Amino acid sequence: MIAKILSLLAKYIWIKKLGILNGLALIISIYAHEYGHYFKAKELNYKPQTPRFVPFLGAYVKHEPLNSKKHLFEIAFAGPLFGGIVGIVSFYLSLIFNSDFLHQIALFSLIMNLSNLAPISILDGGRIAQSLSYTILQNILNVVIIIIGFVFKKYFFVILGAIGILLFFIIKHNDEYELKEMKKETKIKNRNIYLLWIAVLLIHTLLILKKT
Ligand SMILES: [Zn+2]
Repeated sequence: MIAKILSLLAKYIWIKKLGILNGLALIISIYAHEYGHYFKAKELNYKPQTPRFVPFLGAYVKHEPLNSKKHLFEIAFAGPLFGGIVGIVSFYLSLIFNSDFLHQIALFSLIMNLSNLAPISILDGGRIAQSLSYTILQNILNVVIIIIGFVFKKYFFVILGAIGILLFFIIKHNDEYELKEMKKETKIKNRNIYLLWIAVLLIHTLLILKKT
């Protein structure tokens, strides 16, 4: 009940702060991302609850505890995948129909899902990195994010990468519960999908930032 009221309040605050069109565009972008997690968790039988919004922070989908790193990867990746697809489709549609609303959905979705893939422990990217048991890759990616931020003068990326590196050293990397390991081939395949999707979203984010 309290979560439901908070969830409504969160949406109200965003619309109030950003105006109806931008507020709705943000809420649609968040829903697209969260429903990605939701449908994957449902497909894998983890009994998810529909997405709940948290004022000023975002949203989340609750589900039963996971039992394997394969499922951890699949559910964590499904959010940025589905949200990113919505962002890319909205981007091209906004060009065809010259629509500000679609442009805003694309802008929010691309930035939100790309930054969510950063391998920072509290984000989906952090869960993905945990599922792949990568530590070196995590820091390489964070350094890449910082370099991209400096090259394109988007200091948001610089800060994101810096937080990632900082948290990496602060937070201990012990698995709280034992998760079944991923097969080696699956791990390599998932790592490639993860890196490829970062590249696709990065290209589209830079395209849309140029047009904004
Ligand atoms: Zn997510």
